[in-house]
Amino acid sequence: MRFLITAGPTREPIDPVRYLSNRSSGKMGYAIAEAAIEAGHEVVLISGPVQLPRPRAVAVVAVSTSDQMFDAVQQQARNCDLLVMCAAVADYKPVAVFTKKLKKRDAKLSLELIPTRDILSSLPKRRKYFVVGFAAETENIEANAQKKLLKKNCDVIVANDARVGMESDENEVEIFFKNGETKKISRASKKIVARELVKIFENCFEKSLTKKTR
Ligand code: C5P
Repeated sequence: MRFLITAGPTREPIDPVRYLSNRSSGKMGYAIAEAAIEAGHEVVLISGPVQLPRPRAVAVVAVSTSDQMFDAVQQQARNCDLLVMCAAVADYKPVAVFTKKLKKRDAKLSLELIPTRDILSSLPKRRKYFVVGFAAETENIEANAQKKLLKKNCDVIVANDARVGMESDENEVEIFFKNGETKKISRASKKIVARELVKIFENCFEKSLTKKTR
C-alpha cells in the first residue's frame, strides 16, 4: 500500500521573525511512517518543522505553513491508497503578515486571525484513497471525534487526549469508524500504538477493496 502521512505542527508567520504554532512534536506521524515501512508499505511523509531524524526509506516533503501543507497534500493525495492526516495543522493564521519585524510598544496589541483552509474538508467526496483524520482534544473526546468524522468526511478518526499525546513518547487512542464501530489502543509507546494503527488501517483498506469488487 502507498501511505501518505502528514506530521508535526505548521507555522503561521506573523512577521519575518515570529509565528503562531502549537506543541506538536511530530512523533506520532513519524512513528506511523516507520511502522508502515516496517510492514512493507511505501511512504511519503509531509512534515511540518520537527526535531526528528528522517525515517529510513521514507520520501519526506518538508513544509512550514498550513497553505504549504494544503498544497502538498493536494499534489500527493492522488498517488496514495491511504492518507493519514496526523499533522496538527494550525486552525487560524494572521490575516496579514507584517513585512518588517513588529516593534515593541507600551500598548496592547491585537492580532487579527482567520481560519486556515481545512485540508481534510477540501478533499473530493468521491475518491480512490482511504482517509484517516486525527482529533486531539482536551474534553468531550468521543462527541468531538464523531462530529469530525462526519464534518470532515473521513473514513476513520483517531482521537486522543491532547494532554496525554502532545509532545509525549506515549499515546492512548480511540478509533472511530464510519459504520459506528470503535476500537481502543491503551496507553503505550507511540511506536507500539503506530504498529497497531498500521494493522487497523491495512484491515480497513482491504475491507474497502472487497466492498468495491463485490
Ligand atoms: O479541527 P481539528 O484541527 O481539531 O481537526 C484535526 C484534524 O483535521 C487532523 O486530522 C488535522 O490534520 C486536520 N486538519 C486539516 N486542515 C486544517 C486543520 C486540521 O486537515 N486546516
